[in-house]
Amino acid sequence: MENGKPITTMCAVIAMDYTNFCYRVCSICERTLPVNPSSSLCKFCNFNAFNPGSSSSKRVFRLLMSIATDKEVQTVICFDRVAKVLFGCSADEFFDFAKLHPFAAETVSEILVGEMFRITISKPKNGNAQHSRVVQIVPLSSCFQPAIIRLRELYGVNSN
Ligand SMILES: [Zn+2]
Repeated sequence: MENGKPITTMCAVIAMDYTNFCYRVCSICERTLPVNPSSSLCKFCNFNAFNPGSSSSKRVFRLLMSIATDKEVQTVICFDRVAKVLFGCSADEFFDFAKLHPFAAETVSEILVGEMFRITISKPKNGNAQHSRVVQIVPLSSCFQPAIIRLRELYGVNSN
């Protein structure tokens, strides 16, 4: 990973940060919204006073996990598109599920730890980003199921 080119490697997930897996963005421009819920509307999109419902928020995944490759153990970050492969649903859907099932995120971590993936990782381009970013993730097990499917089985919830 010396020259900043993305690398593709096999890895096993060894830990996942299930305490902080998503954040809120504006549903229109996808700018990150402040954590404080009283200022949860996007100041760039919500200028139209005649249509106050014009901007709303949605959640997107930002998932930290530790992976082991044949060379090293490292912490990588998965943003929304990649994390959806693991979760099998949007961050909003998962958040709603987790509201009803408080241990859902912890269970996702238990489900994913030990899974093998073929992973493509890109090193941070600037000094502000701490972690390499996962740009693609492909489960190696032919019986891999996204976490939400396993959760619905575990909790006995029908998908519709
Ligand atoms: Zn906006």
